[in-house]
Amino acid sequence: MNKHLEQLIDLSIVDKEIDAFEPQIEEANHKYEAILATKEGLAEEIATLEEEIKAEELKKQKNELHLAELSAKLEENSKKSAEIKTEREMKSLQLEEEIAKEQVTFANEEIERLEKVIDNKKDKSAALQTKMDELEGSLASVKEEVDAKLAEIDKERQEVFSKKEKLVAGMNQKGLSFYQKIRRWAKNTTAVPVKNQACMGCFMVISDKVYADVIKGEEITTCPHCGRILYLEKEEAAHEA
Ligand SMILES: [Zn+2]
Repeated sequence: MNKHLEQLIDLSIVDKEIDAFEPQIEEANHKYEAILATKEGLAEEIATLEEEIKAEELKKQKNELHLAELSAKLEENSKKSAEIKTEREMKSLQLEEEIAKEQVTFANEEIERLEKVIDNKKDKSAALQTKMDELEGSLASVKEEVDAKLAEIDKERQEVFSKKEKLVAGMNQKGLSFYQKIRRWAKNTTAVPVKNQACMGCFMVISDKVYADVIKGEEITTCPHCGRILYLEKEEAAHEA
């Protein structure tokens, strides 16, 4: 096979290998970021619950204040009752007392209800906090794991980079810029094999003449339909020979 063609094919393989690292890096980072995101979500939920607890506690305080007022009023009424002279005054006082007592009952019930709501929300918040603490605990080990994975990927990547460097150093500028021009749009399918006389980039069948050129491999042949660099894989070449 033509040496320049061979170099272009090797370069396309190396470039493909380099691109394949990106999703691996993303995947490794994703694991750590997912835990961080979950943790943030929990923190938000807890903050919302804390706000709600504050609001319920404020309601409870208002009811307690009301209770204090009512009991002061009842005390005052009992003092007044000693000084009552007429039946009308007596009845009016009794009515006031009844209303106040009803309000006391209602306020007590309301306080009890609010306390239950507050306890419930506090339990929920505590459970979320426990979950968050667990995540916090695993975060360090996951970070370590991810960093190790990233270092491993980086090492492999450096090896592929130096492979590419060596390859590019041995290539002529003309062939390289020809390759790069195609790669700009064809990305990882810049050089593609021919199978069953079809270009594996655009899947169109190539003419007998072009196919014969590809089989010979003496020149760099491009697909007449899409412009990708064509080559024959070893098995196919053995089959054609
Ligand atoms: Zn093609």
